[in-house]
This record gives sequence, C-alpha cells and structure tokens, in this order.
Amino acid sequence: MTSLCLYPNKERLTLGIAQMIVNGREKGEKMAGSAWEKRTRYCGTLSKKDVGNRVVLNGWVHRRRDHGGVVFIDLRDVSGLVQVVFNPEVSPEAHAKAGELRSEYVVSCAGEVRLRPEDSINPKLSTGEIEVVADRISIISASLTPPFEIVDGIKVDEALRLKYRYLDIRRTEVREALLLRAKATSEIRRFLEGKGFVEIETPLLTKSTPEGARDFVVPSRLQPGRFYALPQSPQLFKQLLMVAGIDRYYQIARCFRDEDLRADRQPEFTQVDLEMSFVCPEDVMGITEELLIHVCQEVFGIEPIQPFPRLPYRECVERYGTDSPDLRMGMPIIDFTEVFGSTELRVFRKALEEGGRVRGLKVEGLRRPSRRELDMMVEEAIRLGAGGLVWAVKEGDALKSPVAKFLTREECEGLVGRSGLEEGEVLLLAAGQDEATSTVLDGLRRWCAERYDSREQGFRFVWVTDFPLFEWDEEERRYKSHHHPFTSPSPECIRVLEKMPLEVTSQSYDIILNGVEIGGGSIRIHDPALQERVFSLLGISRQEAENKFGFLLEALKFGAPPHGGIALGLDRLIMLLVGRESIREVIAFPKTQSGSDPLTGAPDHLYPEQLRELRLRTF
Ligand code: ASP
Repeated sequence: MTSLCLYPNKERLTLGIAQMIVNGREKGEKMAGSAWEKRTRYCGTLSKKDVGNRVVLNGWVHRRRDHGGVVFIDLRDVSGLVQVVFNPEVSPEAHAKAGELRSEYVVSCAGEVRLRPEDSINPKLSTGEIEVVADRISIISASLTPPFEIVDGIKVDEALRLKYRYLDIRRTEVREALLLRAKATSEIRRFLEGKGFVEIETPLLTKSTPEGARDFVVPSRLQPGRFYALPQSPQLFKQLLMVAGIDRYYQIARCFRDEDLRADRQPEFTQVDLEMSFVCPEDVMGITEELLIHVCQEVFGIEPIQPFPRLPYRECVERYGTDSPDLRMGMPIIDFTEVFGSTELRVFRKALEEGGRVRGLKVEGLRRPSRRELDMMVEEAIRLGAGGLVWAVKEGDALKSPVAKFLTREECEGLVGRSGLEEGEVLLLAAGQDEATSTVLDGLRRWCAERYDSREQGFRFVWVTDFPLFEWDEEERRYKSHHHPFTSPSPECIRVLEKMPLEVTSQSYDIILNGVEIGGGSIRIHDPALQERVFSLLGISRQEAENKFGFLLEALKFGAPPHGGIALGLDRLIMLLVGRESIREVIAFPKTQSGSDPLTGAPDHLYPEQLRELRLRTF
C-alpha cells in the first residue's frame, strides 16, 4: 500500500467514519453468540493523539512479518491501515494466535496505542508514527491466497481484477476512487438541492429515448412480443416534468446505450441529469459551471481556471479540428490555403482544386528534430487517416522539408509569417477536405503535446456552443440531429429551417474538460408545431412521430414552459478528476470492452423455460 494522502481533502472522507464509531462506542463489545469484539475505532484514523488509549480494531491482515519473536501485522479496513504488534511478553496467547495469520484473514484485535520507536516511523503512512500493541486477537474468517497481491500499482490482467473485483476494491487506489466518487455525488446533491432542484426518479423500463445509440431491450412476459427499452437518457421524462411544473429537476441517473465500447464508454453509465424551466442557455451553463467548480474545490481540492471559456462550434472546429478541444495545449490550427494559391506542389494543388484547404500547426516543445522524429509524425498522421503529411523546419532563412524544392520564396515566407515559426521549429501541413484534415490535425496536436510534454498541468474546462442543429448522413442520405431531436434551433434560424437546414444552429452547449466531453445539453423545443417540423426534416413521418413520441407531442400541447437542461457524464468526470485512464477505474463493477462482466458471467443464456415463457426464440 502506498501513500494514503493521494487526495488533498482525504481527511474529510475518513472523518465521518471516525466520528461515527467514537460517538457510538468507547469500549469493544462482544457480538452476541460469537467470540469477536466490535471495533471502537477505524484503523486509518488513529494518530499520535490516541497514544495511551485502548482500542479494538476489526479488519483484514494486509501483511504479516515475523521479527525475532515479535509478530507485526498491518491491519486494513476501509479507512486505511495501522501496524499492530504482537509481543510474547505482552500476551503469549495473542502472539501465538498471530502466528496463524495469513494475508486477507479477517480479525478482531485489541490493544494500546503507543508511539513507534524513532527508527521505525513510516512517514508515508498517515498512521506511521504509532502502532497498536495487541493483547487480544480473534480470527473471524480465514482467506484463500488471493489471485493477485492486494497492493497499489499492480500489473494484473484486467479481466482477473474484474473477476475478483471484491478483492480489487480492497486496494487503496480503487477503494479511494469509489469513496471520492461517493463524496462527489453527495456534494452534487447538496449543491443542486441548495439551488432548488428536486431529485425525481424516472422509469428504467420504458420506450426508446433516442440519443444516437442502439437500445437495450427487455421483453415483456405479460405482453408477449412487446419490449421495453432501457433509457438512453431520461430526456423525455425530464421534459415532461417541466410540463408538469416541477421547474428544477435533477437525477443521478443510470443510462443504457448499446454501442461499441471504448476506454471511456460502458453499456450502462451514470449521468448527472438536470432540467430547468423558463431559462436560456446562459442559465443552464451558469449553474453547471458553478456546480463543477464546487465539486472540484470541495471534493478534489482543485482550482479550475474560471470563468470557463466559451467557443462557438464553428470557431472551435476551425481552431482545434475537434469539438472537444484540450485547452491545456496551444498549437492552434492555421489556414495556409491562401499561401498556396498558385502552388507547384501537386498534392496541395489537387486538394485545392477539389475544394479542400491546406491547414497546419506549429509543433510546441520541440526544436531541431531528428529525421526519425519527423518520420514518426508522418507515421502518426497516416495512422490518423491522412494520405501523407508535409513537415517543414526553419533553418536560417530557409525551410528544410521533403518538398522544399517545390516551395517558392513567397510560400516559405507565407508559412513563416502566418505561423511565427522560429529557428529549429517544425510546421506540419495537411491538405484535403476539412473533415479529414481536422481529424489528422486534432490527433497530431494531442500526440505532439503528449510526446513533447507541452501540456499545461491542471484542469481546463471549456464550453462549446451553437452546434449545428442537423448534420448530413451520407450513408443514409438524410439529416440527423447533431444532439437529439428535441433540441431547439436558435430563434433567428427558425425561419430558414427548411430552406437551409445545415446552416441552422441550435441552442446547445457541450462542456469539455481536458479534451474530453463530459456533458452536453440544450434548450428544448416547447412548441409542438416546431417539434413536428424538426421531426419532418429528420425524415420521421407523422405516423412514426406519433408512434414513438406521441406522448411528448401531446404533452407540449398542454401548456409547456420554455425549458432546457444538461447531462454530465459522472463516470468520465470522476475519472478525469481522480486522474485515471478509464472509467472502469471509477465504477465498482464495470464491464469489459466486450460488454461482459467476468464476475457474474453476464450476459448469459436464458433457460429454455424462460425463453418459452417470454415467447422468444434464439437463433
Ligand atoms: N439527454 C442528453 C444526453 O444524454 C442531455 C441533455 O440534452 O440534457 O446527452
């Protein structure tokens, strides 16, 4: 077990536990009909202040050491660990019993807290100045040898960790992530309730709520052939709650989306979902910003840069090639198209003739790179889908580049002038359609920042606003919602909805933290006629709209207030604030990449009787 001070406000996590026990009981008491004594204190809460006191501890044997006739154990419980000493001179019985202990045995022991001898103080441990000299111990449960060591930083196959997740959670880094998550959730509730939000649960067995993924479905036994869908979000119910006059709703809501999994995706995940009536985007963004700052400060001791900057979608994509920009790094994308108006370079000319652009970025944190380094950038660009990548390094008055002989002096000057390229610095150029070059330049920007360590420390939030209402799906040859079909167009665009759908912006906003989207929302359509126009543009027929969302359209006819909200991905937010690479690290019982749970074996086959009862056949 490493340092127990991973988090600045950790004291607040353990304090509650310590108080609870001390207030309840000063002396250990026997459990009726059993041989073990109930604890008076939690292991990790003991300190110098307790020297001279008697304590009873319950917990797991983290480690046992025999030192010249004296047995030491590190005893662990939810709050941390403390060293317990068994000396035959203090109690021969307890010492003999301690000899039987193995890792992960559950024990109860009693003794006196004393200062450790000077040379055995452990400054890495919050209880490292003291130890408990035990005179009584009972073994409550034995343990098999665990399949992996219960220590932090282990390199163990994740499937094994998940199969024995109850052992994995005994490790400090996993347990503390869960405790911090709980603390964050409780602060979120406290904050929102302080602002007049009411927590209301919405159904899990429901009808499809489109958020862009496939539904998980549940067959109905009572109505054979019919299925419930698990909600992709509580979207429609929260809108109905606004029609119902609830005014400010929130829920820590479980959502289900059947899509391909990535490191930051799970088939079921948790949203902090909220909705407000009589609001504009600023109101929702304002309260969300306050909430995020509150959680950062109160739970994690983090001071994010405030206020969060706001970037309209188009400007954001132009500058960073993505709608989830990481503002911890510079390297904005620069448009060099004009520089190459009459270029001799064939790849550039071709791209421009096809309506594309030449864009690029200046690499930060790197000067006078080796040829190998430059080749690696080209390889990375190709991995990101580019046909190729042109690099140029400033050397005196010239540019060193594989295409140098095709570049005129004016073009070189244009490149240096627009980018402010300095001696030894590298410029990367990609030519083609924006969609392709944006992906490449966004990827290169992140790759370079990581490789050349040019990222700032800290937590950078940014709002991206004014997304297009629709995007064109070339494969299906139809418009799709950029967010979801209930998002309101910007008021000034409603007139031209049908005329110029792709030009229409929406009253929407995403919140990004360190390059990861952690939430998004919008002002909703509250006018049933406008909602029908949007459905129609999405190719949803009247009949289909009636079947799927008739209940919403009807509700909007009974006096719907203007309303809007947002949902934050709680798992992702906690993952980033705790500094983990995957949301699986902050979920107690997550699924693997293939959507299975190695612990329970889900998903599983049904028994033939169950299938029969549900009138289902598998093939
Ligand atoms: N329901 C949306 C989502 O899950 C969030 C929202 O629009 O409030 O992304």
